[in-house]
Amino acid sequence: MHQVHIIGGGLAGSEAAWQLARRGVRVRLSEMRGGGDTTPAHQGDGLAELVCSNSFRSDDDVNNAVGLLHHEMRACDSLVMAAAEVAKVPAGSALAVDRDVFSAEVEKRLLALPSLEIVRERIDALPASGSTIVATGPLTAASLAESIGVATGADSLAFFDAIAPIVHRDSIDMDIAWMAARWDRGTAEGGGKDYVNCPLNREQYLAFRDALLAGEKTEFREWEANTPYFEGCMPIEVMAERGEDTLRYGPMKPVGLDNPHWATPEHPNGRWPYAVVQLRQDNALGTLWNMVGFQTKLKHAEQVRVFRTIPGLANAEFARLGGLHRNTFLNSPTLLDRQLRLNCAPHVRFAGQITGCEGYVESAAVGLMAGMMAALELAGGAWTSPPRTTALGALLAHITGDAEAETYQPMNVNFGLFPPLDETVRKKQRKEAYTARAKVDLAVWLAQLGRRVAERESSEWQAVENAIPG
Ligand SMILES: Cc1cc2nc3c(=O)[nH]c(=O)nc-3n(C[C@H](O)[C@H](O)[C@H](O)COP(=O)(O)OP(=O)(O)OC[C@H]3O[C@@H](n4cnc5c(N)ncnc54)[C@H](O)[C@@H]3O)c2cc1C
Repeated sequence: MHQVHIIGGGLAGSEAAWQLARRGVRVRLSEMRGGGDTTPAHQGDGLAELVCSNSFRSDDDVNNAVGLLHHEMRACDSLVMAAAEVAKVPAGSALAVDRDVFSAEVEKRLLALPSLEIVRERIDALPASGSTIVATGPLTAASLAESIGVATGADSLAFFDAIAPIVHRDSIDMDIAWMAARWDRGTAEGGGKDYVNCPLNREQYLAFRDALLAGEKTEFREWEANTPYFEGCMPIEVMAERGEDTLRYGPMKPVGLDNPHWATPEHPNGRWPYAVVQLRQDNALGTLWNMVGFQTKLKHAEQVRVFRTIPGLANAEFARLGGLHRNTFLNSPTLLDRQLRLNCAPHVRFAGQITGCEGYVESAAVGLMAGMMAALELAGGAWTSPPRTTALGALLAHITGDAEAETYQPMNVNFGLFPPLDETVRKKQRKEAYTARAKVDLAVWLAQLGRRVAERESSEWQAVENAIPG
C-alpha cells in the first residue's frame, strides 16, 4: 500500500516521486498517458515529456534567476536537473536537451526505485483521504479538473490564463508617470493612490493603437481556439480592432485622472490625458507591477517594442510578458497554505504548473519542494520554507500567499520576486548580488533542514545509483 499518491507524471510529478521514493517512501505515480488517454499537447507516453521547446532556459547561475533555480535544484538532488545533464545538447549558455533522451532518463531513474509504482491510469476525482500530490499540469483531464473545481470553488480554478505584462517598478519613469487611485476615486471612496498612470496624448494613443494592430501576433493552437473561454479575457489588440475609441473606454480610460505633471496656473491639479495605461502592484514586495487589462497575443519582441513607446515605459524592464493560453491553474494564494496544501483538504498538495508557476523548470522546482514537504511530513519532521532570498523560496512564497490573489496569473521565476537589495548596490551588480545572497542563504537553509532531506544520503544514494541499469 502506498504512502503518497502522486497524480500526473509530468515534470512536477516525476520530480516529486523522485524526492519521495529515493527516501524510501512508498509512492504510487498515476499517469494517464500510456493508459489510453492523452492531452492535446503531448505526443507520446514518456514521463516528463517536454511539450514544446527543448530548453530549460539559461544555465547561468550568476546573472540569471532561472539559472540560479537550476543551481538550487541541483543542490537538492533534482531528478530533472540530473536527467538534463545526461540529455544535454549544445545551446550556449542555455541548458537544452534531447527531449527523448531526457524523458527516457527520467523514466529509467524512476523505474529503478523499488518503493515507486508507476501506474498508467487516469484519476477522475481528488482522493478523499491519504497524502496526495496533484501534478496534472496545464492540461489536467476534464473530470479531475471538475473535481478540483468542486473542492475549491468555481472561481478559483482557471482554464485559460490571460497574462498581462509585468514591469519592474524601478524601471518606470515617475517623472512622466504618476500615482493615483483607479479613476481618481480618492481615499474617501476606499481607493488609495494605488495605481501608476502613464499618460498618452491623442497622437501617442493613435500611434499606439496602430502599433497594436500592426504588431505580429502568435496564433492560437487549434484546440485552444475552440475553447469558448477565450471571450472572457480579450487580448488588448482585439479590443483595439473593435474601434478607434474602444481602448479609451476600456482599460485605457483616462476619466478623472488629472496628470500633475501637466499642471498649469489655470489647472493646478493638471489635466486628464487622452488615454492612460495603468499599472497595479503585483507582489507584496511592491517590486512588480502589472499592466492592467493588457493581456495580449503579440509576440514577445513586439510587446517589448510596442509597450516601450508608452510614455513612462521607455526603459521598462519586463519581469513577464503577456500571453493567452489554455492553462488549468488554481488561485493558489487563496487556496494553498505555505506547504502547498489545500486549506480545505490538507491531505492534498498541489505541484507544478497547476499551482500557477510557469515553465518546465519552475514546475519541476515546485514538484521538488512538494516531494520534500510530503517526505518530511511523513517522517514527522518540521518543514521550514527556503528563504525568500533564494529562487526556490521566492517562487514558493509568491505562489502560496505573496502574490496578489485578485490578479493572480502564471509566473516565471525572476529577480522581481526576490526581496530588494540594499539601495547602495549598483544596478549593474544587482543580478550577481541576488545570486550570491541566494547561494549563501540556500546553503544555510539546507544545513538547517538537515542533510538527510536535501543532500545525497550516501548509502541510500549509492543503492539507487547501483540499481540504475546501464
Ligand atoms: C502547448 C504548450 C507549450 C508549452 N511550451 C513550453 C515551453 O516551451 N517552455 C516551457 O518552459 N514551458 C512550456 N509550457 C509549459 C510546460 O508545459 C509546463 O510548465 C510543464 O510541463 C508543467 O509541468 P507539470 O508537471 O506541472 O505538467 P505536465 O508536464 O503537463 O504534466 C502533467 C501530467 O499529468 C497528466 N495528467 C493530466 N490529468 C491527469 C489525470 N486526471 N490523471 C492522471 N494523469 C493526468 C498528463 O498526462 C501529464 O503527463 C508549455 C505548455 C503548453 C500547454
